[in-house]
Amino acid sequence: MAQRKPIVAGNWKMNGSIELVSEISTAVNECKNKQVDVIVFPPAALLTKMAEFGVEVGTQTISEFDSGAYTGELSAELAKQLGATYTLVGHSERRAIFGESNEAVANKFAKAQENGLIPVLCVGETEEQRESGETEKVVAEQINAVISKLGIAALSNSVLAYEPVWAIGTGKTATPEQAQAVHKFIRDMLSTQSEPVAQALQILYGGSVNDKNSKSLFTQPDIDGGLIGGASLKADAFVSICNSALGNV
Ligand code: PEP
Repeated sequence: MAQRKPIVAGNWKMNGSIELVSEISTAVNECKNKQVDVIVFPPAALLTKMAEFGVEVGTQTISEFDSGAYTGELSAELAKQLGATYTLVGHSERRAIFGESNEAVANKFAKAQENGLIPVLCVGETEEQRESGETEKVVAEQINAVISKLGIAALSNSVLAYEPVWAIGTGKTATPEQAQAVHKFIRDMLSTQSEPVAQALQILYGGSVNDKNSKSLFTQPDIDGGLIGGASLKADAFVSICNSALGNV
């Protein structure tokens, strides 16, 4: 059994509305006072509204710059002022669609921590990379980009999310065994640099988690909860996923 507190995080992507903020916030508040941290990552425009409901919120990305002529970007400092306590960095959609490199992701990770936000570093391989046996190499490179910039200690104030790209939004979830194997690989890799950091780090699984498969994923020894996309937009499913994380305490 893991000794780390589980986290269930909802990534709304570019979905949702003011109405959904109120519906999901009410549902999330039902999960409060339980042994699980629930965090929602709505579109930035909805952050303040959701934070006003008392829900812990984060941004889906932040700029790697402080301020200036970067039209459309959101700085970590402003995200914090809007009520965010966390930010995703390196979500696979940011990497694939917006061309974020490992280096840019490491810069964002640093910028988050400098501004008092907890980064949730998302890593994961594509289907092609898995099929050619490169999963561990890809995931290690994504994590090592942050460690080489900031050192292993930086991970002690962060969260990691293993999200195989082939499982995101596809309905093709990794089996609990497949996910556990990569989570264990990550923890073992980090423990060669710092056993305390490796043991304390919450590593979430993401990729088509729903209320039917969450329990079997979350009860794996190195899986400390989930990063949920589609199912986080449905109040009933999200609450039941939050409840299924309780078994992992
Ligand atoms: C995600 O957006 O990080 C995600 C895992 O999405 P989904 O749950 O829809 O696969």
